[in-house]
Amino acid sequence: MKKITIVGSGYVGLVTGVGLSEFGNRVTCVDIDNNKISELNLGKIPIYEPGLEEIISRNVNNGRLYFSSDISLSIKESEVIIIAVGTPQSENGDADMQYVFSVIKSITENLNSYKIICTKSTVPIGTGNKIINILKNKFQENSDFDYVSNPEFLREGSAVKDFLWPDRIIIGTSSQKAFHIMCDIYRPLYINKNPIKHTSVETSEMIKYASNSFLALKISYINEIANLCEIVGADVHDVANAMGKDGRISEKFLHPGPGFGGSCFPKDLKALSSIANEYKLPMETLDAAIQANKNQKEKMGYKLEKLIAGGINNKNIAVLGLSFKANTDDVRESSSIDMINFILSRGGYVKAYDPIANESMSKIFGNISYFDDIYEAIADADAIVLMTEWNEFRSLDLKRIKKIMKGNYILDTRNIINMKELSSLKFVYDNVGRIKI
Ligand code: NAD
Repeated sequence: MKKITIVGSGYVGLVTGVGLSEFGNRVTCVDIDNNKISELNLGKIPIYEPGLEEIISRNVNNGRLYFSSDISLSIKESEVIIIAVGTPQSENGDADMQYVFSVIKSITENLNSYKIICTKSTVPIGTGNKIINILKNKFQENSDFDYVSNPEFLREGSAVKDFLWPDRIIIGTSSQKAFHIMCDIYRPLYINKNPIKHTSVETSEMIKYASNSFLALKISYINEIANLCEIVGADVHDVANAMGKDGRISEKFLHPGPGFGGSCFPKDLKALSSIANEYKLPMETLDAAIQANKNQKEKMGYKLEKLIAGGINNKNIAVLGLSFKANTDDVRESSSIDMINFILSRGGYVKAYDPIANESMSKIFGNISYFDDIYEAIADADAIVLMTEWNEFRSLDLKRIKKIMKGNYILDTRNIINMKELSSLKFVYDNVGRIKI
């Protein structure tokens, strides 16, 4: 059992905190956002993540999980400090590292005994070395501190499960002592199945970017294939399914859609491209994936415009799904943002519905209507555009929808609505890369 501080209690920090407490450690999650910590102490969970509430309350009740705004004290009392603050994209595409370095400053002010300083935030390759050099100005490596890079691979929407049953845990460090301590904090995983890989700090930092970029590349690739399918009369689902049967390709991340969003892929691709540029090494596949994604997001708006006779001006459009993917309230870089902007720019009106993310989106768009009931959002709409693959959208009551809608246009950017039913009910519809029935 180790005493651990997680600095940053967002999607990654909170899940890491509860996960490590579930593994038997004593964990304090800290954050500069005092409201967030107060709410957590009242049992309110600031994000939506399936299974999170239950596992938090279990670990709080058994005395292994704490929330605190006292970052200094928590650092002093812990042996392992895990940094999980945001690394958003800055204006020039680089990762904005101000939050990470402000945590390093707090650590240098409070390092009172040997500690492992571990970065879980996604950080540019070379960051670990910069941190080690800052710490070395004041402290002795190996005796006062050791540095570890331990990137996180969880997916929002299944984050708890991903953390508790990971495919791999990367521990990047030059210190054997730190490596063994890190193995210890992940002990239950280490005993059953050993998903732990020991690497150098730089390799670990690179694994995270290379993995995210590859997945994003796969999405951009299948989206471009889908677009070509539409032109040549092929069906992208059959194509993706057959491609996925090839073990070298795998079926994962071959779902065409409205372009990837979220807090990771867009910024991580740009950051990796920016790192490569810094070293004057063009990474053309990466830049192409970024551009293809931008095109895909734009294309969805044009698809909608083309579908509706007379265009979007003055039309009421029901936008179903606001989060960047199902099972999360996260709307960062969501394709729905591009879609809503497009509709507004064309003079249309948005009736938005999301089972969880209405509140998050209302911070971006205060001027559109939000509905808590999907059928109220759809009532009197001229068209529907489905943006997120929420399960409840798979079983929409299309007969009822046909009756309550004003128009009969449906754009399904996730290819989840039954085309046969759409056809038989005489909807005018479109989707991404499928042969229409
Ligand atoms: P987030 O924005 O949800 O949370 C970051 C938290 O850090 C916020 O609560 C913020 O208040 C807090 N914070 C900022 N500065 C602080 C400071 N100096 N001291 C204490 N707290 C501070 O971010 P996130 O989505 O959890 O992502 C965190 C990191 O993990 C990023 O680098 C991200 O790229 C990476 N990551 C994210 C995911 C994901 O799915 N969200 C997956 C893997 C990796």
